[in-house]
Order: sequence, then C-alpha cells, then structure tokens
Amino acid sequence: MKKLALLGSTGSIGTQTLDIVRSNKDIKITALSANNNIGLLEKQIREFHPEIACVMSKSAAGDLKTAVADTDTKVISGMEGLVAAAGDTGADMVLTAVVGMVGIRPTLAAIEAGADIALANKETLVTAGHLVKKAAAENAASILPVDSEHSAIFQCLVGNEGNKIDKILLTCSGGPFRGLTKDQMKDKKAADALKHPNWSMGNKITIDSSTLVNKGLEVMEASWLFDVPAGNIQVVIQPGSIVHSMVQFEDGAVLGQLGTPDMKIPIQYALYYPERRKLGGKRLDFYDLSEIRFEKPDTESFPALGLAYDAARSGGSMPTVFNAANEWSVARFLKNEIGFLDIADNIAAAMQAHRVIRDPSLYDILETEAEVYRFLEERHQDQKI
Ligand code: MG
Repeated sequence: MKKLALLGSTGSIGTQTLDIVRSNKDIKITALSANNNIGLLEKQIREFHPEIACVMSKSAAGDLKTAVADTDTKVISGMEGLVAAAGDTGADMVLTAVVGMVGIRPTLAAIEAGADIALANKETLVTAGHLVKKAAAENAASILPVDSEHSAIFQCLVGNEGNKIDKILLTCSGGPFRGLTKDQMKDKKAADALKHPNWSMGNKITIDSSTLVNKGLEVMEASWLFDVPAGNIQVVIQPGSIVHSMVQFEDGAVLGQLGTPDMKIPIQYALYYPERRKLGGKRLDFYDLSEIRFEKPDTESFPALGLAYDAARSGGSMPTVFNAANEWSVARFLKNEIGFLDIADNIAAAMQAHRVIRDPSLYDILETEAEVYRFLEERHQDQKI
C-alpha cells in the first residue's frame, strides 16, 4: 500500500484527495494536517487512522487532542508539527495542499525524508523553487503537479522527454471579473470575488483568480516545474476552463489537455502517475460545447499579471515579495480591510521598495516575507491617517 501524508486535509484539495483515497482503498494515510477546522479533522482521523494529525493553531490542537484521546493518532501543532507530519511518518508521497508559503519548510522536510511530492501549494515553488528543485535532485524525489494547468502541461509532456518546449500556453478562465475595467472593479468586495465561474476552490486561491495573481503565480510555478523561462510562457484566457493548458514544441505542434473543470482528475493523476484510473464524473460533450473560445489577457485592468512577469524576470527574492505582498493583502481584503485594487497596488509598491537578494537562502526568503509584511503594515497605517 502506498503511504500518503496529506497536508491541508480539510480544504478543497484535501477533501477531494480523501474522496479518491476512500474510493480506491489502496492508499494508507500516515498524516493529516489542518489549519483550524478540527471538527472535520476529527472525522478524518476516525475514518483514515493517521499516525499523526497536525493543527496549526496550538489552542485548537489542544481541543482536538482531548476529542481524539480514544484513538491512536498523535496530535501535534504549529510549524514544527507540520514539518514532522511531512517528514516523520515514512510516507512515500506527501501531498501538500496548504495555503501560502508556509508550505516551504514541510515540502523540504518531505523531500529530505525521501518522499515524492504531489504539489498543490504553488507558493512554495514561487518563493523557494531553487531550493526545492535542488533538494529534489539530491534526494531523487519526483514533484508531481496537482495544479490543474501544470498537471495538463505535465500530461502533454509524457512521451516527449528530450523534446524541447518552444512555448507553454497556460490557460486561464479570466476569473469572476473578466471583461471589467479597473473602475468597475474598485468597489468589489470579497463576496463578489469569491464567485468563481468554473472552479470551486478555497478562498485564497479564488481571490487570487479574481486579480489574476493566481495566473502570475502559476507562470512562476510552471517556469520552475518545466524549466522554461517565464518569457516563453504565454497566458491565454479560455473562459470555459475546458482546455487546461497546452505545450507548443519546436516543430510547431501544439498538444493540449482537455476535460471538465474537475480537480479530482489532476489529483488522481498525481497520486497514481503514470497510471490512469477510472474516475466518475461528467464527461465533455463536444456537440454540446460547439466552440472553445480564447482571448488575450487584459493586463491594463489586471496589472498583477504583468507584475508577476516582472518578478519572474528579476528572480532571486523578488517572487517572494510578489507572493508575500499578495498573501498579506488577500488576508486583509477577505476581512474587508482594504479594497480590491489595493491588492495589486500593494504588490507593486512592495516590489518597488525591495532590493533583490540573489540566490536567497531559506532564511533570506522568510526575512523577505517579514520585511514585506512590515512595509505593508506601515503603508496601510499611513493610508488610514
Ligand atoms: Mg491552477
């Protein structure tokens, strides 16, 4: 039986992963982790019997410990706990679906412990791609993308090992505000941004889809995963989310992967690669579709996408600044403390204030994150006055 540690088990990717584990019955869960949803985590512990369950919040971990005292699962907490959940249970694979750059340390711990990574946590590659790639090479660990676009690209590349990629065509739904001008978006609230037209996802990534920050992060993620410079990754709006991404080769041939917008397809593909297992759900009906439309992204209305290319071009610690400024801003926007357009504004301001550190260490990356947070706290205070 394959042993799987699942980080972020109560979120959208986590629960869908457990649906797949439940129906296939041939994966043993060794560890589960959640931010603070201990109600659902308790149910998961009782069903999947992990050795370890980690809760980020220390007080919630205390409550969970009492609740599952009758089980064999050990409850741990905080970043230390997350690192242990990733590296200490002898898992063959660690699926990391935590939100944000908190994923860096557990991902590195999992690789160092000899596990393969099923990666749904793009912020880790964006900020620490060079460290993750180096560790993976040293430990012969595979990184299997769970992000739907990256899984699509990965699937297009199977059988094309050794063939040079001319260009990656990274598709994008355009999010809930596609077609709107900045002026039309300036008063949008979190509740508006959380209405994604095609994909059902967690709050942070749904906000990121509405600003196109998500696509910017995905450009950087793809650049690390497939060793293609950001300049050769073209974002293409495909409003129906039918084409999940494409690869153009040097002979001009373009391969794409299509399907319904169902995250279980990329999750299951990563869990069982290279095997394709039967999976229920809706199938594409091409008579019904009749057309698949493509558009150019509007970088005027969605400046974050252009900023992501700038961050990728600068490299070093700049992608961390882009990401940290976004994480700070999204958390505030979800609480209605800042406006929608402030998200991209904050990213631009933080990037402008930063001096790039080349080849940043883990310490440099975390310091850069803290520096961006301090910068934005101050900026936000000044704007209030
Ligand atoms: Mg995606």
